[in-house]
Amino acid sequence: MIAPTLSSIPATSAILHRSFSKEYPTAASGQGVYIQDHTGRLVLDGSSGAAVSCLGHGHKKVIEAIVEQAQQMSFAHTSFFTSDPAENLASVLISTCPDVFSKVMFVSSGSEAVESALKLARQYHLCNGQPDRHIFISRRFAYHGNTLGALSAGFNPPRRDPFQPMLSQAFRHVSPCFFTRDGLPGEDEESYVDRLVAEYETTISSLGSEKIAAIIVEPVSGATLGAVPAARGYLGRLRELCDRYGCLLIFDEVMCGMGRVGTMHAWQSLGGIAPDLQTIGKGLGAGYQPISAILIANKVHAVLERNHEQRPFVSGHTYQGHSIGCAAALATQRAIAEDKLLDNVRRMGERLSRRLKKETPMLKEVRGLGLFQAVEFATATATPPGSSIAAAVASTCLENGVAVYLCSSAVDAVLFAPPFIISESEIDKLVDVFVQSVKQTIEKAK
Ligand code: PLP
Repeated sequence: MIAPTLSSIPATSAILHRSFSKEYPTAASGQGVYIQDHTGRLVLDGSSGAAVSCLGHGHKKVIEAIVEQAQQMSFAHTSFFTSDPAENLASVLISTCPDVFSKVMFVSSGSEAVESALKLARQYHLCNGQPDRHIFISRRFAYHGNTLGALSAGFNPPRRDPFQPMLSQAFRHVSPCFFTRDGLPGEDEESYVDRLVAEYETTISSLGSEKIAAIIVEPVSGATLGAVPAARGYLGRLRELCDRYGCLLIFDEVMCGMGRVGTMHAWQSLGGIAPDLQTIGKGLGAGYQPISAILIANKVHAVLERNHEQRPFVSGHTYQGHSIGCAAALATQRAIAEDKLLDNVRRMGERLSRRLKKETPMLKEVRGLGLFQAVEFATATATPPGSSIAAAVASTCLENGVAVYLCSSAVDAVLFAPPFIISESEIDKLVDVFVQSVKQTIEKAK
């Protein structure tokens, strides 16, 4: 940790911060699972920011890789050049599933990755001689990012509402997949999935199946609903629908992917149903550099390649494939493999889930996979005036030195997504502080 020398000066800050009223401490340094602010206060990063910092902070090998690449060659535009880190990173990513994916496109944020995946789906159909296919089916309460295309695909009302007139009409939203909440009394998981598939069928036939470009879903819903894994059989049924109607299946794994749930790709923990296009971000570069990507299946790439002369994919970004971002992500992925961190994700995820369930029986549900777990509060729990329980607990937790992520207003829940390097004693501290914060919040509200 460095000595705390920086000060927090929000009143004079020239930054348009996320909130006008909040005072932001300055993050001065970080080590392991801790961030230190300008006053020297340590905060346990219990959600890796927003499921980003999977290696924690101050990882030497990643920092060295960034420095080395910056000294060697910082930026060369991808219209002219490729780079070793980008080529090597793409090969590493393909090697996670060589039977499924054959190409990778690198961009800088999750939203950009989603935009590119949507465009690639459209491009696939153009190259395949099906120009009518332009409609995307996604789900209510999905989150796919904040740029206009990604916002159109997603369904987070507070984020969408101000921009509603600017959103695309090419998106239709069906029900989310949330069996433990939306399953009817007496309905089993299989019948619930049948019901959701019937809704897709009705939507597809009312729009005209020949117009559907793709279905896009998060295999484990993250920011809006809070770590909700797809119900058993759901992803396989979507695969069948897409194959039957000739549209593509896109998995948005920006938040739940890259090892977060204990397998490299979340769909590998959910029956092994692979998509045609997959977005990844956040944990890809562990927050050391902004980088995201789209993994492209063999089937899609073959069609794009066959027609590239008549129909080139015209959608580049200045910083796509940035060599320093790729070097950071390559070092991140190597560290995850060399240190066998996915084993730790599974073991610590199991401990986190077990301890949360045991220690917090007053809560409605503890759910999730690996180190991607959410706690939802029972509506009967006392609410402090003007605040959801989750918001009040998250704020008390932060006062007590632990950061947890507040889910959207669609659920009263907080998300735990600590770094993959977290130890047993740090998991215990995370849970202890959380439980104490829940008690304090309820006490304050009385
Ligand atoms: N997709 C999903 C599933 C996400 O959770 C997010 C961000 O939380 C995004 C896309 C957008 O990523 P970014 O904020 O990097 O643009």
